[in-house]
Amino acid sequence: GKISQMSSEVRDDNPYSRLMALKSMGIVKNYEDIRKFSIIIVGMGGIGSVAGEMLTRCGIGKLLLFDYDTVEIANMNRLFFRPEQAGMSKTDAAAQTLAAINPDVQFESFCHNITTNDNFENFMDRIKHGGLNGGPVDLVLSCVDNFAARMAINAACNELQVVWMESGVSEDAMSGHIQWLVPGRLACFRCLPPLVTTSGFDEKKLKRENVCAASLPTTMGVVAGLLVQNALKYLLEFGEVAEYLGYNAFKNFFPTYGLHPNPQCEDSNCVRNQKVFQEYKKSGKADKVLKGWD
Ligand code: ATP
Ligand code: ZN
Repeated sequence: GKISQMSSEVRDDNPYSRLMALKSMGIVKNYEDIRKFSIIIVGMGGIGSVAGEMLTRCGIGKLLLFDYDTVEIANMNRLFFRPEQAGMSKTDAAAQTLAAINPDVQFESFCHNITTNDNFENFMDRIKHGGLNGGPVDLVLSCVDNFAARMAINAACNELQVVWMESGVSEDAMSGHIQWLVPGRLACFRCLPPLVTTSGFDEKKLKRENVCAASLPTTMGVVAGLLVQNALKYLLEFGEVAEYLGYNAFKNFFPTYGLHPNPQCEDSNCVRNQKVFQEYKKSGKADKVLKGWD
């Protein structure tokens, strides 16, 4: 067809050439750079597993997967995992499926809780050395469902000055959000009280009555798509990377905000990063300049 005439690198039978068409069309000038990037995904649930599949199909260089849970039949209302994988760790099941989809992607999988002491050390080590060349990973994606895990990711990324993106879906499954966290330039997870992302549903009531949280593959799929779109824009430098983007399914509303860091943040590494960033803005100099600072 039309695409196969555009250039020799763009052929209909090679899935990669359909991605490279983004380059031929001048939309993403450096698309092939995607193979150089390494991403950590924490949480291989309803959002993380779908995000991992999207990145795998986009041709990411390396994925490091963290999750302490196993696949259960109760997860089949989400996308990605299959009934025959029940009982496997989510990380191994995901690596197995994803490696079959794209054998060029490198995988590491860790079936553990990142918040315990030993595992947190390993998590920090993989952030520092999980890149394709043994250097730091390019991005950490948070796809967890609890505050403690988000705080652990925040502490690690503030200490190591690594950019991350956070995601979540509300307990009533009717809204979600993504957030971009650039140490020093944007608010960290401790800078602000957590943003409420519900659609007016009373979460306290839900907890009190011990009702099972709702979940929809639709909302989780939308949020996974927003998250990976933002990750691609950040890594490949096209379009505007969202600082905070919400999704309200009831109202078809996508609020966006800019999030400034809090100079009184309780995380001392965040405060240090803010000072380094301010200094960099004044002098153009810093020991380490983060992609996302300009
Ligand atoms: P639900 O809670 O609705 O039954 P879920 O636990 O699969 O489902 P999701 O929101 O789909 O929740 O996914 C979140 C994922 O993050 C889960 O797979 C969970 O195991 C993982 N996770 C949460 N906290 C941690 C942690 N501290 N370390 C590693 N993985 C975590
Ligand atoms: Zn902070």
